[in-house]
Parts: sequence; C-alpha cells; structure tokens
Amino acid sequence: MPASGAAGSKESAEAEPIPISALQHAVYCLRQAALIHIERVWAENRFTAEGRVMHEAAHEPGTRRDRGVRRVTALPLACLRLNLTGVADLVEFRPHDRGEFAFPVEYKRGKPKAHRADEVQLCAQALCLEEMTGEPVPEGALFYGETRRRVIVPFDAALRQITEATVLEFGDLLARGRTPAPVWRPSRCRSCSLLDLCRPRAVTKSALRFRSRELAVVLGSGEPS
Ligand code: SF4
Repeated sequence: MPASGAAGSKESAEAEPIPISALQHAVYCLRQAALIHIERVWAENRFTAEGRVMHEAAHEPGTRRDRGVRRVTALPLACLRLNLTGVADLVEFRPHDRGEFAFPVEYKRGKPKAHRADEVQLCAQALCLEEMTGEPVPEGALFYGETRRRVIVPFDAALRQITEATVLEFGDLLARGRTPAPVWRPSRCRSCSLLDLCRPRAVTKSALRFRSRELAVVLGSGEPS
C-alpha cells in the first residue's frame, strides 16, 4: 500500500532517476552523495572494498524456493512516484492467505551503525516493492557481515518520513547538479573514502580564516582580504 507524499510529482517522471544507493550516501553526508552521484568521483577504502565484495557475491541474479518462500536475488526495483531505481540484494516473497508479501534483505559490511543510512536505503526498497506489488511491505532486514546476523527493520511512519525527505533533498541536488560545501565531522569524515579528495578540514579552516579576516576588517582591526 504505497504511501502518498510530497516527493511524488509530475516532474519526477521526467527527472533523472534517483539511485536508491545514493540515499544511504545522502544520509551519511549530502556532499559525499553529490560527489559520487553528480560529480562521479569515487575512491575506495577498506570499508567500501569490503562492501563491494559482499554485494558482488549477493548480486548474482536468481530465484529459488526454500520452505515455501520464494527468494529472488539481484531484483531490479523502481518507484515512479518517487522516481527511484535500484537493485535489491535479496527479496523474500513469503506466503500469506492472499498470496505472498515481499520482505527485502540488504547485505552490509560491518555491524549496525549509529546513523540510519542503511535503514533508509532498505525503506526505499520497500517503497518500490509496495508500488510494484500493490501490497504493503511492513518490514525487512539488514544482514551485517561482521555480526553475521539479520536486524529486522520495521518500516514505520518515522522511517518512511525520513526516507521520503532524503529522496526530496537529494533529488533537488541532483536536479540542480549542486554539490554542497564540506562540513568537517570527525566521526564521519575519518571513515569516508573521499576524505583525501574532499579535504573538509582545509576548506573549513580556510572558510573560518576568511570569516575572521572579514570580521577583523569590519571591526577595524585588520586589512581587507
Ligand atoms: S570527507 Fe566528510 S564532508 Fe567530505 S564527503 Fe566525506 S563525510 Fe562528507
């Protein structure tokens, strides 16, 4: 049962489709998402390499049945309302009295994280599956390589709202081709594969220096820059 929201519009059908994978980058850092998906910049570090290997293993397309559950790997997804496209690692179609309902599973390296980037990516898959099947998708799961466990993710109203807001925010950047300025956030930037290309500390420092020089001029204690 697809939810209605402000993210759907007539223009969305004509705009460049938004890759579902971009949403996890957008939650982590909007600049990172713009660098990867607008400027096509990519650099690999240990974290991205591990994630890529895991996805390559999971992205072998196929269908098999296991105790009444139809398990489809590398399933192409789309949502016209939100102008999303992507590929689900695994969708389990589980039987119920009216047919079957979809249960998306996304494979991730590492372990559950403090931010909601992985959940937003999974919820976007659910929104696609709801439009594609016409049936509600109430929950899915994230499988983490380090813990080797599934974490069940309920697609509640709050997560759906964050997901649609992220689609709107990143869709706007994509449509305008704009890359936001860097913001140095140590906990995220230190794990970012684009750190050396982005140089957030240098840019933030030069912006701060520029502002202090301007302030000094206004206060009459410095030369114009
Ligand atoms: S280094 Fe920091 S500001 Fe730059 S793209 Fe990565 S997370 Fe974003």
